[in-house]
Amino acid sequence: MKRLTTLLLSMLISASAQAGVLSLAEGDDRLALDEYVFYLEDVDADLTFTEIRSSTAWQANESTFNAGYSASAWWFRLVLDNASERSLERWLELSAPLLDSVHVYVVEADKLVSRYRFGALQPFEERLLPHENFIVPLRWEPGQRLEVYLRVQAAKSLEAPMALYTPKAFAEYDYRRNAAKGLFLGAMLLIGLQNLLLFGSFRDRAYLFYVGFVISMALFLTTLTGWGFRFLWPAAPVWNEKAILLGICLVSGFGLAFIRNLFGPHVQSLLLTRIYRLAYGVTGFGMLVAVIAPYSLGLPFALLPAVMASVIGITVGILAWRRGVAIGKYFTLSWAPVFLGVFIVIGLKLGWLPANVVTRNALFAGVGLEMLLFSLALATRINAERRARLLAQRQVLETERKVKEELEERVAQRSRELDQLNEQLRILSTTDELTGLANRRILESRLAELWRDNKRKGRYLALIFADIDWFKAVNDTHGHAVGDAVLQGVADRIREVVEALGGLAARYGGEEFCILLPGYGLAVAAAAAERIRVSVGEAVYPAHGLKIGVTLSLGVAARVPDTRATYLSLLQQADQALYRAKAAGRDRVCTPDA
Ligand code: GH3
Ligand code: MG
Ligand code: MG
Repeated sequence: MKRLTTLLLSMLISASAQAGVLSLAEGDDRLALDEYVFYLEDVDADLTFTEIRSSTAWQANESTFNAGYSASAWWFRLVLDNASERSLERWLELSAPLLDSVHVYVVEADKLVSRYRFGALQPFEERLLPHENFIVPLRWEPGQRLEVYLRVQAAKSLEAPMALYTPKAFAEYDYRRNAAKGLFLGAMLLIGLQNLLLFGSFRDRAYLFYVGFVISMALFLTTLTGWGFRFLWPAAPVWNEKAILLGICLVSGFGLAFIRNLFGPHVQSLLLTRIYRLAYGVTGFGMLVAVIAPYSLGLPFALLPAVMASVIGITVGILAWRRGVAIGKYFTLSWAPVFLGVFIVIGLKLGWLPANVVTRNALFAGVGLEMLLFSLALATRINAERRARLLAQRQVLETERKVKEELEERVAQRSRELDQLNEQLRILSTTDELTGLANRRILESRLAELWRDNKRKGRYLALIFADIDWFKAVNDTHGHAVGDAVLQGVADRIREVVEALGGLAARYGGEEFCILLPGYGLAVAAAAAERIRVSVGEAVYPAHGLKIGVTLSLGVAARVPDTRATYLSLLQQADQALYRAKAAGRDRVCTPDA
């Protein structure tokens, strides 16, 4: 059904075109002429105006005329009737700014009334109207018929989109179109500037090459749309042609360098390095040919690097994406429209694709989309870099913290070990190994301390010497080991009594013990000595199945320390008392003589 309507519609259109006359009234402000135009191919480019006027080879056109690359001259015919009451004024626009030569013949009432010669190969100021496209002003009377003939030649691709406007409508339309173009180019320059600033702060050459890419793309598009010729180099039509080709090469070269730097370490291989080198070489060669050779020869050598850059870009982008490089995805998505745009434009220029709104604007759309998406990609990249930097910082801090903690822990561990060692040493140096009582050194330093303290406080200090009776015999009879066991047993008994009184018991040497009882006078000390004597004497020390009993002789002394004597006097007194206990028959407690 839909196909049928399309068929009917196209039949209708060609029927009206066949009629060959476009009848215009007032108010037809803007009209695309594609389907009202007839064309004729002049293969040898040698037909005269008179010859083509009477030719029967005219063919109806259907959509925007696109001959691709053609050496022929192409003639176009447009027949306009003034169906209004007044004289009509219209501007015919041929919007293909790069056409080499455009000859216009205007016939009114079978008479050639005007003849114009335009073309991109003439200096800009020779144009009838100062516009990048070719504008033919027309004016004819009511009831009259106007025939417009155009002869177009181009060494470049040959498109001929035509439209008819009232001067007012043209001004309005052109204004909007220029504003859009200006906005687009302005955005490109801004993006270029943004990347220049990014290069300034990140020093990543990828940004610099992207600046080159964007700026040369802007210049290329400016040239392609005729603005370059109109505004930048209006007196240099030859340069204008070369600028197009050089523009393509520059865009490709910067694009390649940008891609290479963007993915540098992520996507790398010997093959890729060679491909890049080849592409750079092809780009350089393209520029050389563009400068020295005519346009038609230069064009394929300029398109080759563009194709290579597009393909390399999309391939490397996908490779990076698959390898998980964050920017790869965004780059690929942003490069795809450029890739498509490039191929659509080439297809259009070669005449493989029809010229229409989509194909004629594909490159603009592609580039615009690319820059938009790539700005997003850049933001992502900057974010990723910042995140990575933060992460690295945090890791450094964390590592530092861990190292510090470990160090502290090790130091703490060491000092704990040292403390333990010290404690062991202290115990070793202060206790007697066999009995576990304090040793003589500690007892004497403690005695000196207590002597000082008690002197100050005016308190009593008591001291007892205790010596096992006939101990040599125990050793001699049962052996040294049994003697040791007995010594331990006696020490336990002594400790029991002394600790209850808050005193200090020490092994003074051999089988002799010394006891300090701070704060006690002679009577209490003597009673304590007696308790010790009884306890030791009652006890029976088992060793190797034998039961051994020993007795103890004790000498007691007590006094309030004063300045007239040293603690040695107390030791002496107790020792003397012990001597007397021994002398008096052992197994008893003695105090000093009155
Ligand atoms: P007394 O004091 O009653 O006059 O007679 P004694 O036999 O106890 O006195 P003496 O001073 O002649 O002997 C002390 C003995 O103590 C000598 C030694 O064999 C013994 N002796 C000293 N130190 C130790 C020791 O650490 N272990 C053992 N098994 N015997 C020791
Ligand atoms: Mg003894
Ligand atoms: Mg002794």
